[in-house]
Amino acid sequence: MSLVKTNDMFTLRHQDRLLPTGRRSHSCNPEGVTESIGRPFIFVCINGRYDLHLPKRVCNTCHYEWTPEWGDLIRSGYWTASVNGDTLYSTDVFKSFEDLNTVEPGLSRQAFLQMLRTQHYGRTGKIHGDVFQRSFLEYMACQYECQKMTCEEPFSCPACTPKMLAVSVDGNRKQYRFRQSQRIDEPLFKGPFIMEDAAVTDFVDKVRTNVKCTPGKGTCGTSQ
Ligand SMILES: [Zn+2]
Ligand SMILES: [Zn+2]
Repeated sequence: MSLVKTNDMFTLRHQDRLLPTGRRSHSCNPEGVTESIGRPFIFVCINGRYDLHLPKRVCNTCHYEWTPEWGDLIRSGYWTASVNGDTLYSTDVFKSFEDLNTVEPGLSRQAFLQMLRTQHYGRTGKIHGDVFQRSFLEYMACQYECQKMTCEEPFSCPACTPKMLAVSVDGNRKQYRFRQSQRIDEPLFKGPFIMEDAAVTDFVDKVRTNVKCTPGKGTCGTSQ
């Protein structure tokens, strides 16, 4: 969609847009190569959904035709959702989803897709949740295989690599804080968590002397 001004009025007009991809070089005269609109598809990037077209190049000299293949698309940073390529994802959307999951592990897929389903500038914003999930997992699985092939370390934990430094990071920090503060905190209760036995027995005796016990009746006091 594009914003067009006609008679002092702004209107949204549909425009066919091409997917930005790397183009293969062709040995013929570049002026004889024409580029036109190819197959339509759904494109999802970090800004949401766009309806785009694949570029199609035809050489008028030798009648050579080119439209991006899977390899061209993957090299340009895209990931196809299906074999017929009706939906393409920009891999930055998967990277952002992964990064957000690392920073905020409770982040739901629904919340992320809700953010992507923006409807600015006449776009429909429809993104299929299950297709997104499947494509994300496929992409991550392929990334893992690529990392294995290149012997890349996918994740290293600073607390246990190369040596185990802390059993509980939080526990160690508390220890340092207590040592630095140089004061002894008075506990709220005499016992660490549970009341002392003597205090409990005293309290039970106090209750027994003040409340009359009626045999055979499960309730105490005057309640009916
Ligand atoms: Zn040619
Ligand atoms: Zn670790």
